Amino acid sequence: MAIRIALAGNPNSGKTTLFNDLTGANAYVGNWPGVTVEKKEGRMKKQNDVILTDLPGIYSLSPYTPEEIVARNYLLEQSPDAILNIVDGTNLERNLYLTTQLLETGIPMVIAVNMMDVVRKNGDSINIAELGSRLGCKVIEISALKGEGTFAAAQAAVSAAKSGKKALPPKFSDKVESCISQIESSFGNMLPQSFGRWYAVKLFERDEKALEKLNPSGELRSRTEKQITDCEREMDDDSESIITNERYEFIAKTLRGCYKKKNAGGETVSDKIDRVVTNRILALPIFALVMFLVYKISIGTIGDWTVGFMNDTLFGEWIVPAATSGLEDLGCASWLVGLIADGIIGGVGAVLGFVPQLLILFLMLSILEDIGYMARVAFIMDRIFRRFGLSGKSFIPMLVSSGCGVPGIMASRTIEQERDRRMTIMTTCFVPCGAKMPIVGLIAGALFGGSAWVAVSAYFIGVAAVVVSGIILKKTKPFTGEPAPFVMELPAYHAPTAVNILRATWERGWSFIKRAGTVIVAASIVIWVLNSLTFEGGLHYIGEGDEKSLLNAIGEVIAVVFKPLGFGNWQAAVATVLGLVAKEEVVGTFGSLTSMANADLAMELVEAGDSSKLTLIGQEIFGGSGLAAYSFMIFNLLCAPCFAAMGAIKREMNNSKWTFAAIGYMCGFAYIVSLIVYRLGMLFTEGSFTVSTAAAFIAVAALIWLLVRRPSKSVKVKSAAGVTADA
Ligand code: GDP
Ligand code: MG
Repeated sequence: MAIRIALAGNPNSGKTTLFNDLTGANAYVGNWPGVTVEKKEGRMKKQNDVILTDLPGIYSLSPYTPEEIVARNYLLEQSPDAILNIVDGTNLERNLYLTTQLLETGIPMVIAVNMMDVVRKNGDSINIAELGSRLGCKVIEISALKGEGTFAAAQAAVSAAKSGKKALPPKFSDKVESCISQIESSFGNMLPQSFGRWYAVKLFERDEKALEKLNPSGELRSRTEKQITDCEREMDDDSESIITNERYEFIAKTLRGCYKKKNAGGETVSDKIDRVVTNRILALPIFALVMFLVYKISIGTIGDWTVGFMNDTLFGEWIVPAATSGLEDLGCASWLVGLIADGIIGGVGAVLGFVPQLLILFLMLSILEDIGYMARVAFIMDRIFRRFGLSGKSFIPMLVSSGCGVPGIMASRTIEQERDRRMTIMTTCFVPCGAKMPIVGLIAGALFGGSAWVAVSAYFIGVAAVVVSGIILKKTKPFTGEPAPFVMELPAYHAPTAVNILRATWERGWSFIKRAGTVIVAASIVIWVLNSLTFEGGLHYIGEGDEKSLLNAIGEVIAVVFKPLGFGNWQAAVATVLGLVAKEEVVGTFGSLTSMANADLAMELVEAGDSSKLTLIGQEIFGGSGLAAYSFMIFNLLCAPCFAAMGAIKREMNNSKWTFAAIGYMCGFAYIVSLIVYRLGMLFTEGSFTVSTAAAFIAVAALIWLLVRRPSKSVKVKSAAGVTADA
């Protein structure tokens, strides 16, 4: 039988570093069932019968966040053979808060005091032996980053698991202890055998999940309630706070005499760097500069080159033509050649084209994360983002999304809170990505004489959509409550480590190729099939013929939906649908569906900013109506992103319902904004008032209501024991 060891600790305590060090490449990364919280599991190096599970980073085992619930359910229900509790040695008091709760589960436990390299450098001293005997469990010093002591810690956890020696719960003051033991005895054998103490403490705290599970009779419930209120009256505090205080007192008592900070309140090197980097005035400019460089190098310089090379040269000029002629030589039917060369290989190419630029971007973000700068960014941006319900960590995904939504969505991984992460994923694609810019260029050129204001307004609309959505969603059921309290520790800066960086880069890159790859390839095939078959004269392959394709026929049906938005013709509908494959397709589609009859020419005209010929598109598709064209642009900027990004959404949400919710939300939002802009525009410019105009007014009213209404009742989110740092 394998030995199962759970790795538990605060966020940023070094769990993942330790996990990677112990498992090497034997890890499996997935999500916990039903939530988007990352689950990592792996077998220990050279000791295949030991399975390590990296629990989500948490400050407490209260049932308030998905991370806490995941960790707690795992411990109570799967009951691992031992817990390896990793604590940040530079922040002992706060980290031990979780330790006191882990000890209560009674599961055999070993404590690994991490970051010892920093502790030593700071000149602090921890009497490890004494600490271990006071806590009643083995304590080991480690540096996960340097790989020091990690193996010994794992060995100790394995021996603890084998011996099965139960961890001892911290002892509280007599009053509290007597109340807890009263509860324990009145519940008697209703309490799960090995977790008696844990449940008794939770019942004392009036923990809802615990009550729900034990479901005591009315009589028992009221008796317990009376015992708790008696204790509360006596101690003049509510029971949850009583326990919190008891825990901190226990920690203080435990550390007294065996922990000494050399220069308490003094400045470490990291503090000195932070004085500049997180300085109120300098923080933003420094950050802007760093991100500008990252962005310029990955998406800009290298991205332009690699995407161009992969799409135009490697696939466009070499692989696809080679495959085509190869298949033709083999005597394949022309439809099969088309399906394989254009549908499948073309689809794969569209995915792989992103990969080099993504890897470079991930590499640079991993470096920033590893040295500790990302934690600072979140800290800096939190002040601003908090105002509209997002956390500071949402900033990176949004910034990255202005290049490409796919890495943007994937960058949301660093947001630990599930609620904040979902909200970020749902809104980040509103930021116009690079591939949407040709649409903007087209509309500007076709109807606005190439005015630069069209592009400026596109960014403005994107950012406004994020802000408005943030405010609206935050007041809606699954998102209510304050953004996660900012309790992140700022880890000490350190030099980047190649292994960590390469691993993080590869994990992200590979999961993109795997998941986004399957979705976009499947979708490309479907679109190719629809565009290559016709019903005219019986269902058959079009080939070089010019019959009306199925896609075209579907376009006519879909066009009806866009009528109220002012662009209800089949060309616009087809372009919008094809835009789901890749947003660049929109311009090409217009080129080939107008009398210009040339997709490449249209793209060239947009790139050259040549509006004289683009006006043709403006006339034919939008009847010369700037308002209709602008409405089209808004819809295409805000509605569902391309298939690659949808694949990324599916991958990150890890849940079909949420994926559809996200895409549905974007489409709905896009529709409403376009409707409002077009209909109110028509009313003011031409005085036209129709049923749709009335609908637009209703939509405006609804939006305003959504923005100003009272938030729906929120789930209580407690900060971890009042240790919320103010940001
Ligand atoms: P997690 O949130 O608990 O998974 O923490 P990580 O493993 O991601 O580590 C957080 C930060 O602390 C990273 O920047 C690590 O490189 C750094 N770190 C982890 N262990 C050590 C250590 O022993 N010494 C130092 N100096 N840094 C460490
Ligand atoms: Mg981690």
